[in-house]
Amino acid sequence: MTNHSIKHRLECNKPLFSIEFFPPKSDATAEQLLRTAERLRVYSPDFASITYGAGGSTRSRTLKYARSLSEDYGYTVMPHLTCVGHSRDELKQIIAEFKAAGLSQIMALRGDPPKGEANFTPHPDGLSYANELVSLIDEVYPECVLGVAGYPEKHPEAPSAELDLLNLKRKVDSGADFVTTQLFFDNEHYFKFVENCQRAGIHTPILPGLMSITSRNQAIRFCAMCGTSIPADLDAQLIAAGDDKAAVEAVGVEWSFQQARELLEKGAPGIHLYIMNRAQPAIVLMDKLQAVGFYTA
Ligand SMILES: Cc1cc2nc3c(=O)[nH]c(=O)nc-3n(C[C@H](O)[C@H](O)[C@H](O)COP(=O)(O)OP(=O)(O)OC[C@H]3O[C@@H](n4cnc5c(N)ncnc54)[C@H](O)[C@@H]3O)c2cc1C
Repeated sequence: MTNHSIKHRLECNKPLFSIEFFPPKSDATAEQLLRTAERLRVYSPDFASITYGAGGSTRSRTLKYARSLSEDYGYTVMPHLTCVGHSRDELKQIIAEFKAAGLSQIMALRGDPPKGEANFTPHPDGLSYANELVSLIDEVYPECVLGVAGYPEKHPEAPSAELDLLNLKRKVDSGADFVTTQLFFDNEHYFKFVENCQRAGIHTPILPGLMSITSRNQAIRFCAMCGTSIPADLDAQLIAAGDDKAAVEAVGVEWSFQQARELLEKGAPGIHLYIMNRAQPAIVLMDKLQAVGFYTA
């Protein structure tokens, strides 16, 4: 798939399907990522993104697995890049490395503070916000397709949803081609967000980010970090499933299926799955979506 076609795919009527990996830290977890990549290939994801760790700690691993997903598994890969801990010159070098590896789309992020730090502090010669990274990539790699993050429930640091939206517009005006959202469990947040974006003059595709919950505790932890709410009805179902792992996963996948189905029926450009390097929930979800007529060949 070419650079042109990922942009084109986001703009055409057929819903897009993408998945997000994180770079593994050990051989055992690397094995899991590669197995997942192999198993999900049959669903022909339009792209796979791979995250970038705090403080540049995963710089080489992000690149290594981005290359492997692309070269060994044939995925169109979108590596993430954050401003955390990097000078402008280092960022330019990393962008050049991505370019040299044939990676022609990047998710441009400010990034979260490294573990143990409460606030984001820019590198003295670095960038403070994602819109600056978008401008930098656009300057040094203009043909690169750029994704940025959007927050249907507002970024936790933003003083208001209105200001957060203005900051999202800066990213789009700086050259972002599309927005992927933070995970959410209530579609109303997405629909309202899309409406507000349009009103604010943000007309790029907005790809909804979904996660099938596999553990209530993990979901609570993630959601607290990223400002996502868990609807009472979903939480009640997770509590009822208790310690039964299979029952929890069934609740999680059914919820994301209902979300995805409604999103696609109401015209979302596709779905982006936060898969946590696990294949099975994504397989169950995709099979359910195919059974109701989405993502069939
Ligand atoms: C799809 C997606 C993928 C992600 N992948 C990663 C990853 O790989 N690695 C990682 O570490 N984290 C990742 N994150 C988390 C992300 O890094 C955090 O949410 C981070 O706190 C903000 O990043 P951002 O790019 O949205 O920042 P920004 O867009 O820079 O926004 C950060 C805050 O500053 C405000 N702001 C933005 N621009 C300005 C400005 N010019 N002036 C004043 N205020 C401004 C915003 O309103 C917001 O409150 C991801 C998030 C999403 C939704």
